[in-house]
Amino acid sequence: MPVYQYRLQAMNRKTLKAQPATLPGLPQGGQPLPHHLPPEDHIAELQTALLQWFAQNQRSLPWRVSYTPYEVWISEVMLQQTQMERGVSYFKSWMRRFPDIASLAAASEEEVLRQWEGLGYYSRARHILTAARKIMTEHGGSFPSDLAAIRALPGVGPYTAGAVASIAFGEKLPCVDANVERVVARIFDVDSPVKQEPAAGVIHRWALRLVPEGLAREHNQAMMELGALVCRKKPLCGSCPLAQFCISLHLGITDQRPVPGKRATITPGNAVTGWLHCGSRVFVQKRPPAGVWGNLWEFPGGRVEADESPEQASVREFMEETGFAVRVARRHGIIRHGYTTYRLTLHCFGLEFETPASADTPPLPPQLTAATECRWVSPQELNELAMPAAHRKLADRLFAGPDTHAAQQARLSASDQE
Ligand code: SF4
Repeated sequence: MPVYQYRLQAMNRKTLKAQPATLPGLPQGGQPLPHHLPPEDHIAELQTALLQWFAQNQRSLPWRVSYTPYEVWISEVMLQQTQMERGVSYFKSWMRRFPDIASLAAASEEEVLRQWEGLGYYSRARHILTAARKIMTEHGGSFPSDLAAIRALPGVGPYTAGAVASIAFGEKLPCVDANVERVVARIFDVDSPVKQEPAAGVIHRWALRLVPEGLAREHNQAMMELGALVCRKKPLCGSCPLAQFCISLHLGITDQRPVPGKRATITPGNAVTGWLHCGSRVFVQKRPPAGVWGNLWEFPGGRVEADESPEQASVREFMEETGFAVRVARRHGIIRHGYTTYRLTLHCFGLEFETPASADTPPLPPQLTAATECRWVSPQELNELAMPAAHRKLADRLFAGPDTHAAQQARLSASDQE
């Protein structure tokens, strides 16, 4: 494909005739397609080059073996906001524990959250469980193939529905993740912020237009793979199979595409948490189902107010959330953890009752104000509970390692003497 033709078209956009947006199942909005749409025969060339590259360069991934709808679904949800290597590890572990929809549907929310722990966005795990149960009751245990039925599953948005419908069932639909967004924005020189209209709609229409008949599975994965391996933030244009079709490359503006939107503000947060033990068990509480970290277990704690030290905050939070009067017995350092737009600095403490408790009996029952349930658990039981990442880090700091039960108990006792 002669590059100059694209270049010419890109330069003459204003004089070219707009084409109507008539593609089904995608955001409409009424915007015309970009003016520099290449002719059909060049689309075919692009598709072929991409598919040939994918056949030779695709990574071997566990969900690319049998392409069951269940595996495609779980992998697509897991990989949102997760790096590939980490996603593969979680996927394998998930499939060992829940090899099919029936075993997932029969699991408790506690088990599912524990399996999901560390991936964040826990509502995704809860939705997966609800959707699995719905598939069992409404679809006889078989993942639905109809796009509307897939879309009706809890937590399944347009992206996941398109991914499952195209990759598992071969439907002619696009998968527009961040990788594909970047590839399309560069090839066709989409020159406004990609997350907003009109660019988002334009990219969807482009992505759909590029899907070849009968090859949606291969094509969509090829687009995503190209974005992940070649058309990265710093693109490797020298080894790109689509270089001859790429308008941004030929205009010398790959570093200006995609056009970013407004950056999210990162908010720093200063918080405290602490573990309180009674004999060989530690106190944990379960967060309410709604809100951040819903239904996860945690050590009590909260925000450090402007006029207090982390130690004071820790004692106050325990009193407010449990009614326990405690004091700081030891410090366990700081844990830093980044969430999407939040950078948490968590001060961690070991706490003890103000009034010494007898060896294994807490002095009084807690009065919970920020939790639905609480338990005194052993280190082994703690390991079975789903916790937010920062709290798991603290638990690991206290109890993880090649320890035996006896060694863990000894560590708790040793902490007492620090
Ligand atoms: S030529 Fe470069 S910018 Fe264009 S699609 Fe390929 S890697 Fe991306």
